[in-house]
Amino acid sequence: MRDEVIEEVRSRADLVEICSEHTNLKRSGKTYRGPCPLHGGEGPNFSVDPARGIFKCFVCGEGGDVFSFVMKRLGLDFPSAVRHVAERAGVPIPEEDEHREDPHAALRGALAFAAEWFRSRLVDPESGSRAREYLRGRGFEPETAATYGLGYAPDDWRALREAALERGIEEPVLLEAGLLATSERAEEPYDRFRDRIIFPIDDLRDRPIGFGGRDLSGRDDVPKYINSPDSPVFSKGRTLYLLNRSRHAIRRQENGLVVEGYMDALSLHSAGIENVVAPLGTALTPDQAGKLVRYARKIYLLYDSDRAGLRATFRAADALLAVGAEPMVVTLPEGEDPDSLVRREGPGRLRECLEDAVDVLERKLQILERRGYLETIDGRRRAVDALLPTLRAVEDPALRDLYVSRAAERTGVRRETLVHEMVRSGREGRGPSGPRTAGPARSALAAPAPAADGERVAERHLVLLFLRDPTYAARARAEGLEAGRFRDPRFRALAGAMLDPQAPDRELAEQLEGDALQAARELEADTTDLGQPEEVFERSLRRVLYGSRLQRLEEIDRELELAEADQARALLLEKEKLARELRDARVPVSWVRRFAGTP
Ligand SMILES: [Zn+2]
Repeated sequence: MRDEVIEEVRSRADLVEICSEHTNLKRSGKTYRGPCPLHGGEGPNFSVDPARGIFKCFVCGEGGDVFSFVMKRLGLDFPSAVRHVAERAGVPIPEEDEHREDPHAALRGALAFAAEWFRSRLVDPESGSRAREYLRGRGFEPETAATYGLGYAPDDWRALREAALERGIEEPVLLEAGLLATSERAEEPYDRFRDRIIFPIDDLRDRPIGFGGRDLSGRDDVPKYINSPDSPVFSKGRTLYLLNRSRHAIRRQENGLVVEGYMDALSLHSAGIENVVAPLGTALTPDQAGKLVRYARKIYLLYDSDRAGLRATFRAADALLAVGAEPMVVTLPEGEDPDSLVRREGPGRLRECLEDAVDVLERKLQILERRGYLETIDGRRRAVDALLPTLRAVEDPALRDLYVSRAAERTGVRRETLVHEMVRSGREGRGPSGPRTAGPARSALAAPAPAADGERVAERHLVLLFLRDPTYAARARAEGLEAGRFRDPRFRALAGAMLDPQAPDRELAEQLEGDALQAARELEADTTDLGQPEEVFERSLRRVLYGSRLQRLEEIDRELELAEADQARALLLEKEKLARELRDARVPVSWVRRFAGTP
C-alpha cells in the first residue's frame, strides 16, 4: 500500500472510537481512560490520547497507534489492520495498492542510516561540541535536540560517505538520497552536508525522507540553510516540516500555525505550542496548503512583517484560500520573530498575538488604508487591483461573498463592479483550465494546483499512464478516445500507437519516429509519481475528451455564485444548452453533473 493511502487512513481514523469498540473509555482531561482490552485488566490503566493518535497501557506496557492497537487486539497483520481501520474511517483503498512492495526500501535505509549517524555526531563528545554549544546558545536543551532528532554533519568531505559505504550502503543510493553531491571539480562524490546542524525532515510515518542543514561555519560563500534535493521519496514542495508531529494538535485545536523556518517551528514546539509547521525554505505551495487544510481550516501565518515577509504571507494566503482554508495573518511586535518572541516573553504572549490576528483581506485593507490608497479615486482603483487576487483565490463561496461585500464597502467600489472585474480578469488570466487566481498572484504561485491540469498536461498524463499500464489504454479506447483528440502532435502519434488494439503485441519503437519517438523515450524515463493514478486517469481522459465544454460548465458555476439576476439568467441558459450537448454526446451523466451541479 502506498504511504499516502496509509496516512489518509491513519489521519481519518478516530482512535477513541475504535478503542471504544473494545473497552469502556471515559474522558479524563486531554486523554481517555479505561480498562485495558489487551491484557484484560479492570482498572483504568489504558490511556488513549486522541490528539497524538496513540494509546498506552500502564500495566502491560502495550502502546502505539491505531494500527498497532488493531493488530494487537485482533491479531491482524499490518495490511489487514489498515483495511480494518480504513473501513471504519470510510477511506476506500484503491485495489492496486493492496499488494505492493516498497520500491524505495534501499533509499529509505540510507536515509534512516544518515539520520542516525548525524544524531550520533551531535552527541559525540568531540565532534559535536561546537554544534551543541550553538544549539544551547539558541536556547535548545539537549533533550529538545534528542526529541526532534537533530544532528550534526561534521566539517568533513567524506565522513558520512565512508561510514555509509562501510555499512554496505551503495554510492548510487547515497546519491539518489541527496546525501552525496558531485561536482566537476571533485573526482569522487562528497558529503553534501558539511559543518551544519541537521534537521531531519520526516514523512507522516515518522521516517526521515530528507534533511535541512544550517551552516555553522559562518562563511559568506555558503548558504545559511540548505535542504536535501528532491528524490523519489522527498519533494520539498509537498512536505511540511513537523507536520508528522503537529497534525493531531492541529486537528484538535482546529487551527494550525505556519512559520518560516526550522528554528521557529522547533522553538514553538518545544515551548508547548504543537500545532506548528514550516514549509521547506520556500513559499507555501498549493500542495502544502492542501495537506494542511485536511486537518484544520483556520491557518495562522506567522511571517516577518517586512516587505518580503508580507509578500510571502499573501502568496501563502492565496494558496490557502484556493483550497478552502481560512488564512489569518498574525502581526508580531516590531523586530520579533516567533522564536524570539516565545523565548523572551513566553508562549502566552504569542497566543495574544494570535488573538489579534486578522483575516488576509482585512490585512490587505489595513495596509492599503495606511498607505493612503483608499483616499483618492486613482488610489482606490489600484487598491482594487491589489485585492482582486485574494478575492479570486477564495474557494469557499460563503467566504467569497463576505470578502466581496467587505472589499466593496471599504474601497467604495460598487459590488457589481468588483464581481465583474473578478470574473473578467479571472478568465483572462486562466490557461485552458487554470485555477481562478490570475495575474500576478497566479504566476507567483509557482506550481499549478494539482487539479488544474491543462490540456497538454492531461494529454501527457494519459500517454504516461498508457505506457505504464496498457489496461489504461484499453479503458480509454472503450470510452471512445481516439488519437485524433490529442492536440500535441507527438502525443497524438504516441496515443495512436498505444490505442491500437494490437499495440501490446508490437514494439512501440517500431511504430514511431522523430519527435514522437523521442517523446516516448522521455516519457519512459519519466518516474514522476502521479499520486492517485486512477484519479489522474479519469480527470485527464475527461479533459481530453470533452475538455472545453466541461470546463465552460465549471466556469459558469463560478460566475453564477456572484452574478446578478440578469446575468444569472443568461448563464443558466448557456449552462442548460451545454449540458444538453454533452448528454447528446453521451458524456456520462455523472461527469456533467459533477461540473454543472445537479440539473
Ligand atoms: Zn494492558
